Amino acid sequence: MTAFKRTRAYVGAVAAVVLATTARWLLDPVLGDHSVFVTYYVAVVIVAWLATRWSAALTMVLGVAAANFFFVPQRYVLTPHLTTAEHRGALVVYAVTGVVVIGIFEARRTAQRQADLRREELQVTLSSIGDAVITTDNAGRVTSLNPVAAALTAWSPDEARGRRLSEVFHIVNEETREVSEDPVRRVLAQRRVVGLAKHTLLISKDGIERPIDDSGAPILGVDGEVLGVVLIFRDIGERRAADKASARLAAIVESSDDAIVSKSLDGIVNSWNRGAEKIFGYAAAEAVGQHISFIIPAELRAEEDLILAKLRSGESIDHFETVRRTKGGRSIDVSLTVSPVRDREGRIIGASKIARDITEHKRAADELRKTAAELSEANRRQREFLALLSHELRNPLAPMRNVLEILRGTLGEEQTPRQALDMLDMMERQFGHLVRLVDDLLDISRISRGGVALRREPVELSAALRTAIDAARQYCDSRDQDLTVVLPPAPLYLDADPARLAQIVGNLLNNASKFTGRGGRVLLAVEGQGSQVLIRVQDTGIGIAADQLERIFDMFVQVDVSIEQAQGGLGLGLTLVRNLTELHGGTVEARSPGPGKGSEFVVILPVLDMASHGPCPAERPEIAPVASAKRRFLVVDDNRDAAVSLAQVLERNGHDVHTAYDGQDAVAAAARLQPDVVLLDIGMPRLNGYEAARRIRQADKSAVLVAITGWGQNEDRQRSKEAGIDAHLTKPVGYADLMTLVTTAQAKSERE
Ligand code: ADP
Repeated sequence: MTAFKRTRAYVGAVAAVVLATTARWLLDPVLGDHSVFVTYYVAVVIVAWLATRWSAALTMVLGVAAANFFFVPQRYVLTPHLTTAEHRGALVVYAVTGVVVIGIFEARRTAQRQADLRREELQVTLSSIGDAVITTDNAGRVTSLNPVAAALTAWSPDEARGRRLSEVFHIVNEETREVSEDPVRRVLAQRRVVGLAKHTLLISKDGIERPIDDSGAPILGVDGEVLGVVLIFRDIGERRAADKASARLAAIVESSDDAIVSKSLDGIVNSWNRGAEKIFGYAAAEAVGQHISFIIPAELRAEEDLILAKLRSGESIDHFETVRRTKGGRSIDVSLTVSPVRDREGRIIGASKIARDITEHKRAADELRKTAAELSEANRRQREFLALLSHELRNPLAPMRNVLEILRGTLGEEQTPRQALDMLDMMERQFGHLVRLVDDLLDISRISRGGVALRREPVELSAALRTAIDAARQYCDSRDQDLTVVLPPAPLYLDADPARLAQIVGNLLNNASKFTGRGGRVLLAVEGQGSQVLIRVQDTGIGIAADQLERIFDMFVQVDVSIEQAQGGLGLGLTLVRNLTELHGGTVEARSPGPGKGSEFVVILPVLDMASHGPCPAERPEIAPVASAKRRFLVVDDNRDAAVSLAQVLERNGHDVHTAYDGQDAVAAAARLQPDVVLLDIGMPRLNGYEAARRIRQADKSAVLVAITGWGQNEDRQRSKEAGIDAHLTKPVGYADLMTLVTTAQAKSERE
């Protein structure tokens, strides 16, 4: 109690005594010398009730002194003089009554203080607990809300107090949205703790809905009477979300095909999902509580120690491929990902392990690897086969060509029937086809080995195309087709391989004629456009469907291979055209308005910037194509037909010719005969052409050595060069081409 309050109490005591004295004074005419304490009783009661026990005691003592002075006979004497029995009795009654009254009021005050203290404690407790608390009286009216309840209901305690609970605590069923039963009514009816119905939503005053979980209890008085109800509730939104998340997680874990296992840092299994049951064959009940080593093959046990050591140091293990054992004793390939599991404080308390059965995957991968190795072997064999085929086809072509040349010479000399000449023409034409097919085949096998190399030089386009145009003209004539050729007025130069340019345009012209019926038209138009040249080959033939325009450039693709439509060919020509064009830095595309409406192929090539080049080839001195000088030839081929027929062609052209049928004979004959030119087959018994060339070269530096072979790959040419051979030709070789080459080689070696 403060000093002020204490002082006020004592002043009050004095004032009460003064008032009591005044009152007794006023009653004096009635009471006389009797009932001297009567008003002081009242003063003591009032002070004991309103102030403190000590001020009440003071009132009592001052009351005795005042009564003694003012009202006990022998009035106005200060000394105590309660001499009569009546007055002494009155004093005892007054004193006893005063002490009792003071005691009663003091006890009441103490009880009140304690009650206040308890209430205060309760308030503090209620406001500091995390749950929301609402209390009501037994009529269901709100008496208090703690701060959490105030926050969840959005009612302030002052606003809420005295209102019906249902107003403040508005709850509905989460699913049906029906207003839930008033919990107070249930508590009052059942007089015991009741839980709320599940799925209750509390709707706050400001409209926010929260799932809650609550209970209500009666507040009982000392006699067991119900004084009110206390409701305790909490917002379970977060918990519900967390529950949902963990339920979802659990469902994912359970439904995963991977084995998901958790274990302690000692390797003891804590959980084992359905995936683990499926993969390893152990039920969860069998696995949980066991050391994880039951699925680890004996020879790999050390692995687990390493894994656990890594986990303890906080490291994870990612996609570690290893082997595990199933309940049935089967070994399976698994990919493991193991991560440390930490508690809230971040301490590592165990590990989660995801194991995926990759047995099937591994088997498929092995299979795939094997298939790819089966496939690339097949590809390699196919390429080898193509190379071999083109080589083998060349061998019979060589003597046939020679014989055709001989026939042409012989038939020309005599009086030959027209029919025989026509047949020779036909033979030569068909032979030309055959040679082209074999050439294509060889080129394709080179392309698929990446082995086509261009021999580029500055080339005048019209000149390079001359032979291809001549051939096309013959071919078109034989099919009664009209071939129109439009060449640029001024020469156009390209940095190109002239033979390959001729092959590109030759193939396109050949196709144009082949896919155009008798009496149709074929056009070749070449025009320069800035830094490019456009070569267009048009026909009025069968045309190409839009969806085929790109496909036809693929290897072996032919649009219609039905017997009636088949035009011959291998489906290689356009593949070569595109490859060769691209090797020249150009493009080629097919156009057609549709089937039956003709086609157009457009090749675009870069032209040569002549400013940056020296004299063009046309301005160089030309070498006479066929020299007439008589030479001594040694023809070497184990294919006797080839050797003999070529010898005859050469003899008919006035040369001195000798033959040999293997490498060793060739070396001996060369030493004996000192030939000007040795024409050497490469693949021969006893001594091959390269070796024979080497030995001939050692003895004779001046002879021109020419390889005539079915092998036309770059590496074959390279080997020829290394063996000292001057030129490498592929079979069949025409006389004119051969002599051009020989003359050039001779001129070259003479210059050197
Ligand atoms: P091949 O002529 O040997 O069959 P190509 O690669 O030269 O092979 O041509 C592939 C296919 O493209 C041919 O089979 C044909 O269907 C189509 N084709 C090529 N040129 C023409 C053309 N001028 N007109 C119509 N179709 C063509």
